[in-house]
Amino acid sequence: MVQTDPAPARTASPEPSRLDAAPDAVPDPVPGEGGGLAVRDVVVRYGGGTRTDPGTTAVAGVTLDVAPGEVLALLGPSGCGKSSLLRAVAGLEPVAAGEVRWDGRDLAGVAVHRRGFGLMFQDGQLFPHRDVAGNVAYGIARVPRAERDARVTELLDVVGLAGYERRAVATLSGGERQRVALARSLAPRPRLLLLDEPLSALDRGLRERLALDLREALRATGTTAVFVTHDHDEAFTVADRVAVMDAGRLLQVAPPEDLWRAPASRRVAEFLGYQAFVPRGAESLLAIGPRGLRLAPASGDASADGTWDATVVGSVFRRGAVEVTVDVDLPGTDGGAPARLVALAAGDDAAGPGPGDRGRVVVDPAGCAVVPA
Ligand code: ADP
Repeated sequence: MVQTDPAPARTASPEPSRLDAAPDAVPDPVPGEGGGLAVRDVVVRYGGGTRTDPGTTAVAGVTLDVAPGEVLALLGPSGCGKSSLLRAVAGLEPVAAGEVRWDGRDLAGVAVHRRGFGLMFQDGQLFPHRDVAGNVAYGIARVPRAERDARVTELLDVVGLAGYERRAVATLSGGERQRVALARSLAPRPRLLLLDEPLSALDRGLRERLALDLREALRATGTTAVFVTHDHDEAFTVADRVAVMDAGRLLQVAPPEDLWRAPASRRVAEFLGYQAFVPRGAESLLAIGPRGLRLAPASGDASADGTWDATVVGSVFRRGAVEVTVDVDLPGTDGGAPARLVALAAGDDAAGPGPGDRGRVVVDPAGCAVVPA
């Protein structure tokens, strides 16, 4: 293999791979402190420099830990502060209050490129004039050539692009580019990889496949990572734990199954896609998940708990099941408009019921959760 590129010039430009430099400024772990990333009461603000500008508080006091080898997803709606938090961890954004620590040491004053962290963005920002190998090798230019070539080969294999070394970047699909960007950010073995919506620019099917491959690549390389996304399916696929953010704050941090089974609040459940909330005593709500209702014939037991009359609006065949949109008068809605919900049709008639058909929806407890009122 021929390595034609000279070592890249070290400039002050904010190229992503600058972050991949050797972490020589980060000292040894503090004895007694847990290793990995610790975020403590971190606040990130923009503006607010003048009397007339109150500024924006993008992150309003977030505390969380990421253990070595763990993959944590930061999940939340657009504008909730995920990127700002990620950028503060990277050192790209100043921390207005609180601390970002690695292995127990405060990183305040440690420059971006000396933290030993890697960064990957939505747009992988590949160098168009370099081939695939040249891109992957960018952050390890100082590694001896044989070792560097071996590392490039190994990583292209990890990201599913074995043999792509000499391909021109312009000939790659969007998904392949992101795979190359991932290999490039893994090459210097970052102690922490920060991924900001790395799959958002791809179409849905590709995104699902790449999310699985991303998880495998992070596990195979033992990489500690923080992954920002607004897509809960993606967060659940990739991460060991998911941190749900809203309006600059953390609402809940838990492994995907726990988060799904026991959302800490209605807001978290709404964000995960729970579709309706029915009072269940004074202090709790039954949260009905996207697959938490079944449609039964109108002749079902009208008095049973968790069974309500429904009128069919329409149905579609999706992901191997007939999803029926229904209007339902839910209890506790005080005579308001019927709730428009999705129920799974029983039976295997792929055509499903038609608009105007009457039926009853039955709660499937496996697809529901109980949250505080
Ligand atoms: P997310 O990543 O969850 O979409 P961001 O961290 O990008 O959220 O943004 C959080 C808030 O901070 C938003 O209100 C956004 O408008 C604001 N914000 C982000 N970056 C800047 C900036 N450079 N200057 C001013 N406001 C910003």
